[in-house]
Amino acid sequence: MDAPAADAGAVISLRDIRKQYDSGEVSVLALGGVSVEVPRGQFVAIVGASGSGKSTLMNIVGCLDRPTEGRYFLAGHDVSELDADQRAIVRSELIGFIFQGFNLLPRTSALENVEMPLAYLGVAGDARRERATRALALVGLGARLHNTPSQLSGGQQQRVAIARALVTEPEVLLADEPTGNLDSRTTDEVLAMLQWLNRERGLTIVMVTHEPDVAHCASRIVTVKDGLILSDEPVAAPRRATAPAGAEPWKVNAPDAMPHHDPNAKAAPGGLAWFMAFRLALRSLVRAKLRASLTALGILIGIAAVVTTNALGVGAQQRMQAQMTTLGVNLLVVMPGGARTGGARGAAGTGVSLTDGDAEAIAREVPTVARVAPTVGSGAQVVAGERNVSTRVTGTTPDYFAVRSWSVALGSLWGPDEVRTSAPVCAIGETVRQGLFGGADPVGQELRVGRLPCTVVAVLARKGQSGFGSDNDDTIVMPISTFRAGIGRQPNGQVNQIMVTALGPDTVHRAQDAITSLLRQRHRIRPNTEDNFTVSNLSDLTSAFNEQTAIVSALLMVVASISLLVGGIGVMNIMLVSVTERTREIGIRLAIGARANDILLQFLIEAVTLAAIGGVAGVAVGIGASVVVGRLTDFSVGFQPDIAAFSMIVSGGIGVIFGYFPARSAARLDPIVALRRE
Ligand code: ADP
Ligand code: MG
Repeated sequence: MDAPAADAGAVISLRDIRKQYDSGEVSVLALGGVSVEVPRGQFVAIVGASGSGKSTLMNIVGCLDRPTEGRYFLAGHDVSELDADQRAIVRSELIGFIFQGFNLLPRTSALENVEMPLAYLGVAGDARRERATRALALVGLGARLHNTPSQLSGGQQQRVAIARALVTEPEVLLADEPTGNLDSRTTDEVLAMLQWLNRERGLTIVMVTHEPDVAHCASRIVTVKDGLILSDEPVAAPRRATAPAGAEPWKVNAPDAMPHHDPNAKAAPGGLAWFMAFRLALRSLVRAKLRASLTALGILIGIAAVVTTNALGVGAQQRMQAQMTTLGVNLLVVMPGGARTGGARGAAGTGVSLTDGDAEAIAREVPTVARVAPTVGSGAQVVAGERNVSTRVTGTTPDYFAVRSWSVALGSLWGPDEVRTSAPVCAIGETVRQGLFGGADPVGQELRVGRLPCTVVAVLARKGQSGFGSDNDDTIVMPISTFRAGIGRQPNGQVNQIMVTALGPDTVHRAQDAITSLLRQRHRIRPNTEDNFTVSNLSDLTSAFNEQTAIVSALLMVVASISLLVGGIGVMNIMLVSVTERTREIGIRLAIGARANDILLQFLIEAVTLAAIGGVAGVAVGIGASVVVGRLTDFSVGFQPDIAAFSMIVSGGIGVIFGYFPARSAARLDPIVALRRE
């Protein structure tokens, strides 16, 4: 053994390295105190029987593992106590690995395999491509850049692996049984290349082998037995491996192919670029299309439900808004029944009602009121000639048309005279007209409402859907006296409701208060007793409507959230499967310089991409579904651009939340354990 003073010249300096594996009851001492110095530029072979500790030694030298005891200096730095990330940086910058099983990423081109360690070093795209191309030219694969491992022979694959190990210009090349899977011809090809790299480029090489023939290509042989060094001897005359004629491309390509080690050429470690991680994610999703689509489906359904619910809710609110403007903000509606009993719905049970007298009193005594229209009404069968429709018939006073902003399309409206004489006349809505007369002019025509014969004097201008989803134009309006005489027979001049307009928007609340106190007086309601009627203004009605819409929306949102939750669990599940399937890939990436965060990012981006694909598709399906629902039903739909952004944030967030755990479990894998996985 060299004295400690000689350490300065050594690239690798191991001092009394012990490695103990403790797995439950059994503990195995794989290395029992190993001290070795490897000077720069040496080619060392490590030999020994199976189980003697060669791989354990290589894993420690390669900073894949940490010794239990002892010190390890690599290029002058003490690396015995570095944490996982620091060891990843050391591997990335100082070490190149060659494995028995090549360990190339499948379905990935030779060029991309060789670029990978540079990506983890933070080398930018163009420089990366150029350096990888040169390294592949050096190993004679300049024409096979875009072939995947399955399209290459074993010897060629190992040469890609050598290019990958060399491309970062490492201090040390570590090879664990590099020729174990090769025939004798390609074995010599690989050995000739290693010898050339060692002799001509001064690269330090440590190679594990069990074949004496291979070991004798090195300049020194260290024999290991039962975790201890049995012998350590120089090779007097190393065997000169010769590649078959014409198969030594490195000699041809050498001048520009392999620049001498230049520390400034290395970029600062920056980790795997986002864009590359995104490309990797897309590629692995494309590889498992069906699985990815099924997983994205859960997110898709959830997001589509959110978008559709929102579109319908917004549509209903927009229509309500439009309705409000046509009704006018001055409208007040008086209905029988107290607020607690729920307005008109309570009227039947309470026995309290509103009367003509109430309506007249409001008109007479409340100065802030402009118009008053008491109404009675019922559904009725209406017949004209051969045709009949069922519609809603309202009996009221002429003010009704003004209060409801009805204008006339054809004919002229009935007035106070017709009310006084109970004239059998009516105004009909556009829907009723279409049902009974088609496109013809019905003014002057006779129809029968129930058993009451009646003359059409006017057609009301089209209003369309009401905010509450009913058809405004499906109506017949006649004088209240005519209605009472011929159709409904409410006693004592009772009315269903009284519609009132205030003089202006600013008097609505004053009118509301005045009507309330007037009616309390007229109905003899004692103080501290509830009203037996309700005076609502339009904003009350709107907020009641909005409240209902909100409840329905909330229910649908719960369903959507459950779907999103299920979708998220699906993402998590598939990512866990993916991590298990790709454990070996993760091991390879870690060995050639990926840090835990690079792996975390890679899998996290994959999960987010998967969820976001579901999100984008969900937005598209949601918009499509809303449009279809809008066409097939009378719902109106309204889109907010925000909802698309919101959906993307939600689905991306689901990717992050549910992808984090699988990604973290990938990032925490031990490179040695991961590499051993088949
Ligand atoms: P070699 O590469 O020379 O065949 P190894 O270094 O793989 O030998 O193994 C040396 C000893 O350490 C063996 O007895 C092996 O069973 C044991 N060993 C290796 N890895 C582990 C591990 N992760 N856990 C427990 N024992 C291990
Ligand atoms: Mg081994």
